[in-house]
Amino acid sequence: MIQKDFIVVGGGIAGLTAALSLAHSGKEVLLLEKNKSCGGLMTTFEKNGFRFEAGARALVNAGLVKPLIKEFDLDVEMLPNPITLGIEDRLLRIEGEQSLTQYAELLKDLYPESKLEVDRIIQSIHDVIEDMKVLYGVNNPLFSKQKNILSRVPSMISWMLKLIKTLYRIQKMNTPFEEHHQHV
Ligand SMILES: Cc1cc2nc3c(=O)[nH]c(=O)nc-3n(C[C@H](O)[C@H](O)[C@H](O)COP(=O)(O)OP(=O)(O)OC[C@H]3O[C@@H](n4cnc5c(N)ncnc54)[C@H](O)[C@@H]3O)c2cc1C
Repeated sequence: MIQKDFIVVGGGIAGLTAALSLAHSGKEVLLLEKNKSCGGLMTTFEKNGFRFEAGARALVNAGLVKPLIKEFDLDVEMLPNPITLGIEDRLLRIEGEQSLTQYAELLKDLYPESKLEVDRIIQSIHDVIEDMKVLYGVNNPLFSKQKNILSRVPSMISWMLKLIKTLYRIQKMNTPFEEHHQHV
């Protein structure tokens, strides 16, 4: 009979994190996965020579991913995550925030009669990017190797203040897109 301190059912990202966390704290863990490999929705499969993501295509830090990688000393390579956007017969490779300028140029080129609207849309995207930076910018003290959580309090307070402002702005976005744009 197998004797373990914990049994984790399911080897998706949640089960893997739980099992790794327990094993790191010295517990004996049995991880049960019904499929041939772990990963759950976070997995890649191949078909006809193409590689597909089963679900997630990006891991956003959100205060958890990077601290966990650090805590467990995982050898994870962080890669850039560009996407290609197609509008009519044009393609634009989006490399990140810096691509907003080319995106605006492309839209204005294709729809010269809507230059003002394009500026508004770009401004909206820019605002959302700034809000995301705050939402995902927390340096979560719970996953810090530095156990003195109190030393993190000043940075948490300054983040909380930004978060309150951001939540107020986001809550105003709870309107249909066209209506929201009238006020941008
Ligand atoms: C289309 C799509 C896009 C997404 N994009 C992103 C993204 O870009 N970024 C992001 O962070 N998140 C994204 N997500 C969300 C993310 O993929 C999931 O939140 C996350 O993978 C869920 O992990 P989990 O471990 O909770 O569950 P799952 O990944 O579902 O894992 C559950 C595991 O349990 C196993 N299991 C189930 N029953 C049993 C059993 N009885 N016995 C043994 N094993 C069992 C399953 O085989 C599976 O391996 C996306 C999700 C989808 C569907």
